Amino acid sequence: MSAPLILISNDDGIQSPGLRALCEALLPLGEVVVMAPEVERSAVGHAITISDPLRVTEVDLKLDGVTAYACSGTPADCVKLAVLSILPQRPDLVVSGINHGSNTGVNVIYSGTVSAATEGAILGIPSLAVSLDYRGSGNLEPSKIIARRIAAGVLETGLPTGTLLNVNIPDLPAEQLPPGWQEGHGYDLTVHGKSDWQDHFDRRVDPQDRVYYWLTGQRREIEEESNTDEETLKAGRVSITPLHFDLTDHRAREALASWELFKPA
Ligand code: MN
Repeated sequence: MSAPLILISNDDGIQSPGLRALCEALLPLGEVVVMAPEVERSAVGHAITISDPLRVTEVDLKLDGVTAYACSGTPADCVKLAVLSILPQRPDLVVSGINHGSNTGVNVIYSGTVSAATEGAILGIPSLAVSLDYRGSGNLEPSKIIARRIAAGVLETGLPTGTLLNVNIPDLPAEQLPPGWQEGHGYDLTVHGKSDWQDHFDRRVDPQDRVYYWLTGQRREIEEESNTDEETLKAGRVSITPLHFDLTDHRAREALASWELFKPA
């Protein structure tokens, strides 16, 4: 069997240190091709480009064995375009990251990092998103080992069709990470939590006296089950949440079933 083909993308842009780290981490597992936004496209969610052309430029990342392309589009565009038009064959794995900052709770919805992996899952390819919580040193070395362990596991066993893994890694020195992390054990299988932001728009005035707004905010501390993505990360553990893109609210279907609207005609 030939070496697996691995597509790497992100939302921090083709020049981000996290993308480079991910390439280095996954090179031992197969052939690596990168298609990533030419500039940072964080928090663009699952946006795709339909009213503008998509431009692709080959970029030399100075990494032996890595072919890389910068794309003018969003993270979802990158994965879609690479799979359908650029790669020589379907990739065996799509990996997005390593994002600068965690993607837990409501951030999963806004995240371009997660959306690149979601696009992979939509295309039926095993996919994962990897984010580092960046509260300490931002050392990417432990994340590289963790990403490689998880990617190797997914290449070996696959994932249910339409499922992606959302991986969040605490920003801790190697000796404070949970036992077994280097060998690929002791990670936490978590659920998507509800942590969100206390949003605030900073109202400012530009030099032409026109008012503008800038979104800021801080994470809201909420009480959650300990097995959510955010709580697990806060406890200094590696969180792996399987996600899918079925947005149906099954509990609400039961609650709504008695509504007049749904009575037979
Ligand atoms: Mn980002």
